[in-house]
Amino acid sequence: MESDRTELKICEDCVLYHATGDLPPDRDREFEILSGEEELGRLDPDFEDGGEGYEEFSSNPCEACGVKDPGSRYRAWTQEAL
Ligand SMILES: [Zn+2]
Repeated sequence: MESDRTELKICEDCVLYHATGDLPPDRDREFEILSGEEELGRLDPDFEDGGEGYEEFSSNPCEACGVKDPGSRYRAWTQEAL
């Protein structure tokens, strides 16, 4: 299937938010995650642990909220091509 959607690597907090709408209790994180959504739109996360797009430990920043803390990264797609 052809798709021109953009693939991103995003952090656990962003995956949770885009999958369920739940935000972390931390206000600063909430702001970062919502800013990411504003920029990229709603994402389709692939939140399967151990799945093809899952990285258990990555030091690359989250491509949605920009968090630089190393940690799990999940694959997600934008709804439309950027
Ligand atoms: Zn994030």
